[in-house]
Amino acid sequence: MTPRRERRYRDALVAALRAGYAVFENGGSSMDAVVAAVVVLEDTPLFNAGRGAVFNAAGEHELDAAVMDGATGRAGGVAAVKRVKNPVLAARAVMELTPHVLLAGAAADRFARDAGVPMVAPNYFSTRARARALVRARARSRASAAELHGTVGAVALDGCGNLAAATSTGGYTNKMAGRVGDSPLVGAGLYADNATCAVSATGHGESFIRAVLAHDVVARMRYRGETLALAAGRALDRIVALGAEGGLIAVDRAGHVAMPFVSEGMYRGHARGGRYTVAIHR
Ligand code: ASP
Repeated sequence: MTPRRERRYRDALVAALRAGYAVFENGGSSMDAVVAAVVVLEDTPLFNAGRGAVFNAAGEHELDAAVMDGATGRAGGVAAVKRVKNPVLAARAVMELTPHVLLAGAAADRFARDAGVPMVAPNYFSTRARARALVRARARSRASAAELHGTVGAVALDGCGNLAAATSTGGYTNKMAGRVGDSPLVGAGLYADNATCAVSATGHGESFIRAVLAHDVVARMRYRGETLALAAGRALDRIVALGAEGGLIAVDRAGHVAMPFVSEGMYRGHARGGRYTVAIHR
């Protein structure tokens, strides 16, 4: 990580925070804010979501994303889409326009197109850095930790006390075609519940699915009365126990923020009262 590269990441994080915060200044909801922030991150080639997403073993991009609204418990997601420019927008459309929670594959792409979500050619997502990562991963026939992460997400609490969460990813380099991770799965890669907190997670998806990670944070607060920080830390302990890495961002109903991770670093930031804080390392 050169200083110049670090600056690019920091600038991208601030841009996402600004986009989310601008929503609140214009009277928008927490759902509007998390979607606005994630769109910026999906459009930034640095992260593994939207443009800049990793390649799977078939040399393609299959993108997963989801949103959840803590006020109503409604949620929407898309899995393994190949042509949606901003998968988070398709996820929101699933929530708002269908009776379903998750749509997958070519039919999800078609649904998004018909819903008016911007579409792109599959090579729009490709970057040279991710192509090199695929070559390296194929040589080793597995993804390395450094290439594993880069999933993006956002959580927010608005002035009405409504919480929302969004997560978007390309999965991980050299994953099998058709593989779906935790990111579009309510309870694993994200959760939002106005009575407790909103969570968005990143890490080894199979472990996050097995641990039902995001909902574990919510359940600990709800049933055990744990604080957000304690619940988030204990939930991640289960990821460690599974031998995996990852992290999460979360905000509770009182506005406490927790961003724990069990990996080398995690690109993260928060905005409060028009002030932005970003960090990468411990
Ligand atoms: N959780 C994502 C997945 O498994 C990858 C990541 O967050 O790095 O699809």
